[in-house]
Amino acid sequence: MTTTTEAAPETRSFEADVAKLLHLMVHSVYSDKDVFLRELISNAADACEKLRYEGLSDATLLGDDGQPRITVTLDAEARRLTIEDNGIGMSEDELADALGTIARSGTKAFMDKIAGAKDSGDSHLIGQFGVGFYSAFMVADRVEVISRRAGTDTAASWASDGLGTYTIQPVDIADAPARGTRVLLHLKEDATSYTESYTVERTIKTQSGHVPVPIFLKDTPD
Ligand code: ADP
Ligand code: MG
Repeated sequence: MTTTTEAAPETRSFEADVAKLLHLMVHSVYSDKDVFLRELISNAADACEKLRYEGLSDATLLGDDGQPRITVTLDAEARRLTIEDNGIGMSEDELADALGTIARSGTKAFMDKIAGAKDSGDSHLIGQFGVGFYSAFMVADRVEVISRRAGTDTAASWASDGLGTYTIQPVDIADAPARGTRVLLHLKEDATSYTESYTVERTIKTQSGHVPVPIFLKDTPD
């Protein structure tokens, strides 16, 4: 926690289609909730790949940490699951654009596709329509994202309970990853199994077996 004076978090409303999509996620379109972990790990891996690519033309972005990595941390006591990467990261504006303001092109198409279906069956649709991040709300009643874009010395956080609004605020870099993104899930009561290393390890193996970035599993936070 920082002791500097920080502006109060700014509350913003989700774009209308995003709000509808979130409602669907909160009331779970899928019986197979494991999907969320695949989507968040895939985003983390994408972020590492983006950094690798940008690093080709600007090596300073990599600093002294050239090894891409994804760390999944379990905290049963706090009923929390964290997925962190040392990839490209997001600035405050990018956080707002990517996770709230701008309707993903696939949002409406995804909802049309699954409209009326009780369980939409093919869970790969989430990823195909580019709405994977929001699947976090299938298992979490609050999601916090803290990010620091590569090559910058500011960090910001995004937080939402998935019920129509989200907040954005700058955070002290001491509270952020040195580079990249930390996604913190406050798990719903019926999703506590995602703090068990056995469950999470098995889910990662079956859902994210081909991810080209090493994934480390930690049983308690530092
Ligand atoms: P998609 O991955 O198909 O673009 P998502 O809903 O999974 O859709 O993610 C939305 C966007 O949020 C991504 O395109 C990216 O810009 C941003 N994002 C999500 N997670 C991360 C992350 N770990 N690091 C950097 N950017 C991220
Ligand atoms: Mg994605």
